[in-house]
Amino acid sequence: MENKQEKLLDLIIIGASAAGSAAAIYAARRNLNFTIVTKDVGGEVALSGEVGNWPGIVETTGIELAQNFHKHIQSYNVKIEEGFEITSIKQEKNHHIVTAKNFLGEEKTYFTKSVIIASGIHPRNLNLPGEKELRGRGVTYCTVCDGPLFKDKITATIGAGNAAIESALMMAGIAEKVYLITKFPNTKETLGGFPKAETILVNKIKKLENVEIIYNAETTEIIGKDNLQAFKYKDIETKEEKEIAVDGLMVHIGMIPNSDFVTCGTKNPIGEIEVDIKCKTTCLGVFAAGDVTNIPYKQIVIAAGQGVTAALSAIEYINKWEE
Ligand SMILES: Cc1cc2nc3c(=O)[nH]c(=O)nc-3n(C[C@H](O)[C@H](O)[C@H](O)COP(=O)(O)OP(=O)(O)OC[C@H]3O[C@@H](n4cnc5c(N)ncnc54)[C@H](O)[C@@H]3O)c2cc1C
Repeated sequence: MENKQEKLLDLIIIGASAAGSAAAIYAARRNLNFTIVTKDVGGEVALSGEVGNWPGIVETTGIELAQNFHKHIQSYNVKIEEGFEITSIKQEKNHHIVTAKNFLGEEKTYFTKSVIIASGIHPRNLNLPGEKELRGRGVTYCTVCDGPLFKDKITATIGAGNAAIESALMMAGIAEKVYLITKFPNTKETLGGFPKAETILVNKIKKLENVEIIYNAETTEIIGKDNLQAFKYKDIETKEEKEIAVDGLMVHIGMIPNSDFVTCGTKNPIGEIEVDIKCKTTCLGVFAAGDVTNIPYKQIVIAAGQGVTAALSAIEYINKWEE
């Protein structure tokens, strides 16, 4: 235990994107003894394409914003263990043992009084035949990353939320022709086929000449040998099966919380970590912030705000911490 005591940190922050960076800035300014352990710096923010809703900056990109988060953390000389994925957090009396692994299998263990989980979310798969085999061979879950590969080609985006429409909008400026596939009908009740998307984006996409929206469509198969060639869908109303030839297929059908390693603390049925208004989880000394939590509206500014709340709550907890 003496050895553990020597190494005992005040805080481990898991993730270095909007929530993790904001938490780190507050922790650094309070002079906490802490480390960020993260797979990468920037997370989903870096993949967010154009960002026009970060207060104070009229127009930026996700990459630029993520780079600025990184610069800001570095200005406080925060220790960042990048390339490490958390595999477990174990509670032992009133401290936590956090284990992480890098891509080479190297393991690290940290002893800490408190933890902030800011590990975000990742894209959901369609779970269709051909999908796994053609991933990276035409099938992508990140339009911002891979979209430029399909210049003057034909692409389809599957999904009905903001991310799908943003994907199709981006591709409309790159590809020759873009299909946008939604499972909803084009009615008033579904807000024109995109019930969860912002009206401003729906109106924008519907005006574009090289974008064809296919409503009532349930994708059933992805086809290709070495590379993607086509996908099949079923018309939910007519039950008719159709096939469309494409070079690129962008899948934007929702996200899954990065919370598999979380065993101490309550999660909701979709795996989001449940937190109270102070970003406390049900596990003593463990806080969570950003997209990985059950707080609605997954947005950069909300994740950053939650990161700050989690840091201030952790500071309050550490101040009262006793061996
Ligand atoms: C295409 C797209 C466009 C978007 N556009 C906008 C927009 O215009 N405006 C807006 O406000 N929001 C936008 N969003 C949403 C925004 O990206 C998220 O709300 C924001 O990134 C959430 O930040 P976060 O810190 O919670 O998580 P993330 O950004 O997902 O970061 C999670 C961090 O945790 C790390 N991590 C994950 N798992 C582990 C693990 N096991 N161990 C260690 N580290 C781990 C990751 O490496 C990363 O650093 C967009 C999202 C997408 C996908």
